[in-house]
Amino acid sequence: MAKKVKKPKKKTKKLFRFKKSSKMRSDGDIDFDKKIIRINETRSKKHKGGIIDTIVHEDMHRLHPRMSEKNIRKKTTARIKRMSIKMKARLRSKVR
Ligand SMILES: [Zn+2]
Repeated sequence: MAKKVKKPKKKTKKLFRFKKSSKMRSDGDIDFDKKIIRINETRSKKHKGGIIDTIVHEDMHRLHPRMSEKNIRKKTTARIKRMSIKMKARLRSKVR
């Protein structure tokens, strides 16, 4: 008797999405359940590091969920220093 083989489940591993939001009190935040990183463009633009700083910062939270805010900031600064203009533009374009 041929056993009915279930079709393999389509991979639905949800990836994190970046989303613009201007209704927040912070520059950005991360929702691990919804897998959404929200970027407050208006607020971020006022900062020295600008929007890239916020994007990389929140992305660091994603990569290191347990890391302290202080270390996240350090890592973010180091990361941005190593990024090319092209990489920054690519990351920037993910936020819409
Ligand atoms: Zn943070």
